Amino acid sequence: MKVRHTGIHKLSDNLVSLIAAGEVIERPVSVVKELMENSLDAGARHIEIKLENGGLTTIVVRDDGHGIPSAEVPLLLERHTTSKIDSEDDLDEIVTLGFRGEALYSIGAVSDVILSTKFADEPGGTRLTLRDGEKSVETIPWPGGTQVESIRLFHSTPARRKFLRSGSAEYGRVGSLVSSYALAYPHVAWRLMHDGRETLRTPGSGSREDALIAVYGADVARKMLEVDFRSGAVNIEGAISSIELTRARRTDQIIFLNGRLIKDPGISAALERPYMQFLAPGRHPIAILLISCDPREVDVNVHPHKKEVRLSEPRAVTGSVYRAVENTLRKNHPLEIQKVLESEPSAGKVEIDEITGEVKPLEPSRKDERDWAIREPKHHHTPDWPPQPDERQQRSVDSDQLQHQYPAFDDLNIPHDLPPAGHTIQFANTYLIYNQGRAIYIIDQHNLHERILYEEFISREENADASSQALLFPVQVILPPALAALVDENMDILRSMGFEIEEFSEGSGKRAYALRAVPQALKDSDPSSALTDILEKASQDEKLDEPGGFRRAFTINLSCKSAIKAGQSLTEEEIAFLIGHIMDGTYVTCPHGRPTMIKLDEDWFRRSFKRSK
Ligand code: ADP
Ligand code: MG
Repeated sequence: MKVRHTGIHKLSDNLVSLIAAGEVIERPVSVVKELMENSLDAGARHIEIKLENGGLTTIVVRDDGHGIPSAEVPLLLERHTTSKIDSEDDLDEIVTLGFRGEALYSIGAVSDVILSTKFADEPGGTRLTLRDGEKSVETIPWPGGTQVESIRLFHSTPARRKFLRSGSAEYGRVGSLVSSYALAYPHVAWRLMHDGRETLRTPGSGSREDALIAVYGADVARKMLEVDFRSGAVNIEGAISSIELTRARRTDQIIFLNGRLIKDPGISAALERPYMQFLAPGRHPIAILLISCDPREVDVNVHPHKKEVRLSEPRAVTGSVYRAVENTLRKNHPLEIQKVLESEPSAGKVEIDEITGEVKPLEPSRKDERDWAIREPKHHHTPDWPPQPDERQQRSVDSDQLQHQYPAFDDLNIPHDLPPAGHTIQFANTYLIYNQGRAIYIIDQHNLHERILYEEFISREENADASSQALLFPVQVILPPALAALVDENMDILRSMGFEIEEFSEGSGKRAYALRAVPQALKDSDPSSALTDILEKASQDEKLDEPGGFRRAFTINLSCKSAIKAGQSLTEEEIAFLIGHIMDGTYVTCPHGRPTMIKLDEDWFRRSFKRSK
């Protein structure tokens, strides 16, 4: 990025009125974002971020950028002072991440600030301190670069503070933000510390792969495909996951446009479209896409956090994203793509909406629409599909891969109305069987219930409204160190799922916890052993150390533990409850990847009885 420092000055009233101003600082992560963007704007190659208590106590961001001239330091912390834009024309062509001159002012309004800096060629450094609204400036020895400390965030606005979740939840947001930037700016060496522990460090080598390894680990990095695409003025770089690496949520899709982290549903849709034929329902690719286009095509000045942007040519960008992803998949998965194209001549052809830039399948007739709905290729059972797993994978079958071996929901053609009440039979206290239309459907009661619970827990975490069951007496749970560490680290996740748990010291060095409530679904189990079991299983999960890994692993095992078991006799109501859920396309497999339902159609009966027609 071009570094430009034209001297910090106050913007004219006219220019101020053109800026989409807003409350910038909502939570610790907003402080971190503004400060590290300033560091990037200053051309830093090393950025270190330290948080105490999720940033609620202190946030420190230190860089080795060009620093701030001592004469300009007193101007900082005033509203609308910036060195980055000067005139209205500059607004059309913003090349820096900041431009409103509001961040330091806003941070100063909600916390104490200590800023230490030294401008490139000046002999000494300067420190600006803002404490309880009192500002002071002094000369200090300082090696170079800038450090900003934000202390006691929101101490004067307790109402704001109440909205925040615990320190570790706030830290979680910061962790994923810094990871995204570390992937987008691999030539910067990033270091993130939380409560004295280093949680992320990238080498700053400029290699995206090194950054991917630092953020996701070597296993994931190995399965990422490099994207490098140019079309007209649009350039796209980055990495996307190969079709065997998927996630249950879209949180690992990171999109930068001209160096700015954005959310844009049109771009996300264009990114996922080429995967659709390959991914099971509810699965999403991982992606880091760095899109650059002419800054004049992008209006960054529409959202107070600059998270949303307006494109003057959305079509050019979404179309390029679609093609970049498609080309990359085609290059890396030639066999699978070829097969889909052969069986489905219209597959892969898309049309890009002139106005919205939305990528859509070509001429979506009703039939096409169904074909383009999430669906898997028809070749699953030929010997080369799924691609032969290597030895390592064979030993531990990955649930993502398992999902590929079963037909997708659409292939089952499940009628959208329920079978008549009382027509379902339970067989072997494990399977539910019913006839509807011209097929027999067989459900595995445990697999299906496990999936229903899994979806419920996931959506509850998102809405943070766990329904839990208070225990009559708190139950003591003693955990081995490894499981205790998991609990400490993920206390918030556990609480969001309905576990009310806190540590109580026994004094003997053992880690004891008091469990006061459990999720509703676990109310009939022995709470202490259920929790220990689930933690134990989750701790074995291969992907535990990936971002979001614990949440996923814990939720899967919690669902498994709480679900109706095989061999359990069910009431009419329980059967109706289960059947009522299969209409949703996400329930084709349990979270481990085993099928929830199979369908026997007339053809199957004909073949089984060796009838000719
Ligand atoms: P903006 O980034 O929108 O200009 P800020 O309030 O974030 O506004 O920063 C105000 C000014 O302070 C910037 O324009 C820049 O000149 C200077 N500045 C802030 N942080 C740094 C930093 N880490 N290194 C160098 N200059 C900085
Ligand atoms: Mg800024």
